[in-house]
Amino acid sequence: APKPDAILVADGVVRRFGGLTAVSVDHFEVQRNSITALIGPNGAGKSTFFNLLTGFDFAQEGEGVFNGRALKGMSSAKVARAGMVRTFQLTKALNRMTVIENMRLGAQAQPGENFARAFVPPLWRAREREITEQAHALLHRFKLYEKRDDYAGSLSGGQRKLLEMARALMTKPTMVMLDEPMAGVNPALTESLLDHIVELKDDGMTVLFVEHDMHMVRRISDWVVVMAEGRIIAEGPAGTVMSNQAVQDAYLGA
Ligand code: ADP
Ligand code: MG
Repeated sequence: APKPDAILVADGVVRRFGGLTAVSVDHFEVQRNSITALIGPNGAGKSTFFNLLTGFDFAQEGEGVFNGRALKGMSSAKVARAGMVRTFQLTKALNRMTVIENMRLGAQAQPGENFARAFVPPLWRAREREITEQAHALLHRFKLYEKRDDYAGSLSGGQRKLLEMARALMTKPTMVMLDEPMAGVNPALTESLLDHIVELKDDGMTVLFVEHDMHMVRRISDWVVVMAEGRIIAEGPAGTVMSNQAVQDAYLGA
């Protein structure tokens, strides 16, 4: 068996909203170059936990380390520059932009992107070219190239999910976090989405994703972590976790 090599570790993470403890995770880790699924019933705290890890929200207690760097106090932009990005659902504003504009926006958290370069025109032009080439390559890979000048709002549910993933890859991340990548996708496109997720791993990335469809989780995950009421109640390989009684009670029975 491969030696454990955690790229992400979090300890004692607590997030309360008023009287509600949304997240209370004693210990969590993700192995480098794995596909890890985070599952659990609605309201379990999965999205909040994602937000805490990626600097979009802050914990009252606890700490995290990503790729050797302490996450405490890091802004979402800094976390992205450190190599950990999450996908975002297309908002109203993003829907009014074209596919290629969305991709350019995704590049803004690019590691190495810096203020000074913006004032050196030759470098800036080279960077622009690089962004365009990278965007085109990703759009080809995700079969969205023909749609590059269409408004994101005109895409189908599945194509939107592909765009969300493609946009996140513009930062050349080490780790990608996907919040419900299959939600609202018709069955014809779920296969292709699964293939793309597996491809990220093949390319050397680490993937953490939240998903409700147990069939999908089972097919691609190396490790499954189950949350309920803010806590991690079980984890392990998919087959083992699904047969766990606590998981059946908390999740499958819910
Ligand atoms: P999941 O993604 O697993 O469905 P969430 O992380 O969205 O769960 O929510 C966990 C709990 O925290 C829920 O009870 C939710 O209502 C609550 N919650 C999430 N965000 C906020 C917020 N900004 N303010 C107050 N309560 C919140
Ligand atoms: Mg959620």
